[in-house]
Amino acid sequence: MLEATEVKVSFGGRGGRQARAVDGVNLTVAPGEIVALVGESGCGKTTLARTLLGLERPTSGQVSYDGTPLSYTGRRLRAFRRQVQLVLQDPMGSLNPRQTVYEAVAEGPRIHGLPDEEKVVADALSRAGLRPPERFFLRYPHELSGGQRQRVVIAGALALSPKVLIADEPVASLDASVRGEILSLLLRLRDDLGLAALVVTHDLGLAWNIADRVAVMYLGRIVESGPTEDVLTNPQHPYTQALLSVLPESPERIVLTGEPPDPTRIPTGCRFHPRCQLALTPACHSTPLQILPATTTAQVACHLAPVRTTT
Ligand code: SF4
Repeated sequence: MLEATEVKVSFGGRGGRQARAVDGVNLTVAPGEIVALVGESGCGKTTLARTLLGLERPTSGQVSYDGTPLSYTGRRLRAFRRQVQLVLQDPMGSLNPRQTVYEAVAEGPRIHGLPDEEKVVADALSRAGLRPPERFFLRYPHELSGGQRQRVVIAGALALSPKVLIADEPVASLDASVRGEILSLLLRLRDDLGLAALVVTHDLGLAWNIADRVAVMYLGRIVESGPTEDVLTNPQHPYTQALLSVLPESPERIVLTGEPPDPTRIPTGCRFHPRCQLALTPACHSTPLQILPATTTAQVACHLAPVRTTT
């Protein structure tokens, strides 16, 4: 449904060097599927999410929706904006403090000229778990709990009957007690409405709880992807292994050495080699890995994982 093909996004960086924020990514989100895009901050996952939303234009490569390349102007862009909705991590920041819940949820339907506004708003609030919806119409964000505010943000997206949600760290700002409720809501929306979602997160525990597939991103590239159970119970890439090792149930902590990624200085060979404890072969230092294809099977970009490597 939503697809990135060999997408690259570069920005002017420090000292006039180009920052290759997204450096060749293939990724699909199928109908009714939840995909977790996982990586450290600065790995390019938010830029990729913005590109999939049509908010950034790829420097090269292509984003498609329903098999049609994205248009960045006119009616087709407007129609696409209805189908693919963004849910941000900070509901207090994404809601206008002077707007009631009704006004916040009605904004999208008004922009898109949808009929039966009050019914649309009530249905969206109800779907988002705020029941009875009329009880919330005249409330302001400060009168709601953190979990209720995030539900209002999700209702704002649902009011446009989207096919895909792109959720950027959707529970990062919430108390642990309400995180599970919001994740359950996303799962219910997938099951009841067939809604697809790309969940952007640094948290592999969250990915485990919610995602059908996981894509692990490092320095602008997907380095490992596949069905959640395959990737998270049998990680093949040393970076995925290191990310997983910080989970409380992990028997051993793998400490990532070296500097955090700098997208203006992509290392030669495998881009993870300066921080990889296994970078012992000459190929790690000198032979680049090819871009992983957008398949649903498990894939890994590592010279030492030949069974699943696509080089
Ligand atoms: Fe580490 Fe080499 Fe694999 Fe890169 S290719 S992740 S440096 S072992």
